[in-house]
Amino acid sequence: MAFTIGVVRETEPGEKRVSMVPEVIGRLPKEDFEFLVEAGAGESAYISDDDYREIGARIVSRDTLYSEADLVTRVAPPNAEETALFRSGGFLLSFLRPLDDPEGIRRLADKGVTSFSVEMVPRITRAQRMDALSAMGVISGYMAVLVAAGSLPKFFPLLTTAAGTMRPAKVLVLGAGVAGLQAIATARRLGAVTSGYDVRPVVREEVESLGAKFVELELETTEAAGEGGYAKALGEEKQQRQVELLTPYLASSDVIISTALIPGRKAPLLISEEAVRQMTPGSVIVDLAAPNGGNCEVTVPGETVSRHGVTIHGVLNLPSEMSIHASSMYARTLSAFITEFVKEGALDLDFEDDIIKGACVTHEGRIVNERVASLQESNA
Ligand code: NAD
Repeated sequence: MAFTIGVVRETEPGEKRVSMVPEVIGRLPKEDFEFLVEAGAGESAYISDDDYREIGARIVSRDTLYSEADLVTRVAPPNAEETALFRSGGFLLSFLRPLDDPEGIRRLADKGVTSFSVEMVPRITRAQRMDALSAMGVISGYMAVLVAAGSLPKFFPLLTTAAGTMRPAKVLVLGAGVAGLQAIATARRLGAVTSGYDVRPVVREEVESLGAKFVELELETTEAAGEGGYAKALGEEKQQRQVELLTPYLASSDVIISTALIPGRKAPLLISEEAVRQMTPGSVIVDLAAPNGGNCEVTVPGETVSRHGVTIHGVLNLPSEMSIHASSMYARTLSAFITEFVKEGALDLDFEDDIIKGACVTHEGRIVNERVASLQESNA
């Protein structure tokens, strides 16, 4: 019997991505998978209902989708109303913000949904093709540079023209994870003089291999290297010192792209208001950490503000702005998860498997992921 997958029309304001695209659906064996697509699901990613019909998907209403699908795929977590539509024992695969949205996770558990969070897929080699965070990080890093270039009242590259020579822009990228490295690569392609900083000293080589300078602070941060490539928070004193030591580098930059994050915590403060004050008027900050409070003291999440002559973009969802490629990349990561675990019409719930164990957040009415469960307890 075929396994039925429901592809919803996203409801979160501003979300333009769709979780499954025809090109990816078309690659899955028809005899093993049936697709139910909510009417209009692909509209903001420029995919029509007919495009889905052509590859054999059925266009259905929201109610039919939730009552008939074995697994629902989404981009953004379901809201309370949508969670209520699930049938008990149904599966969900989506971004769930499990460390930031305890209420949403509790609702899913109460409804009896077996949910998998793409954020919690462990970063092991076998799961690389399922790594939605990295796929979206690449887009965020690329887009952040375009946002900066679009609002900087200067060129990025060195330009020699009959009207004179224009100096290249100086771009500093804070946090050299997936998004940060892509931002460095993109800024370099546009001709900016680029440097990168990260609290994990191991990334120096990656920053330099992209042709950027690594900013080295006189601060011992080896303890910040956490598991799986993630960073751990610095102690309060070191964090304060980091802000002070960074300030002269920030002040001499035309553009700062900040991407520093610590999973499950508020984003570390790296750019103080004083540093913003010291920047040259006309400079630009794109704060990719805005959804987690921002790396910059004066960031307003979801808004573009001007402070001391500096434009600060508190961007929340840049991948959504590149909805075609973002949907396609996201769908591939979901498809990699689905084809790994759906066998003969059923999802193989093997809790001995590192990926299932890591990604499964709720099951049979309980929060089964230890990290998420302990966070719920500490919030209670
Ligand atoms: P992330 O989005 O959680 O964080 C972004 C960056 O911010 C990280 O590089 C982190 O070190 C940095 N950061 C945190 N606090 C900081 C501070 N106070 N100052 C400066 N920088 C700070 O991380 P991410 O981009 O999702 O991934 C981080 C790393 O994980 C990658 O660079 C990679 O090495 C690794 N990774 C491994 C796999 C895999 O093995 N399959 C997949 C993806 C990523």
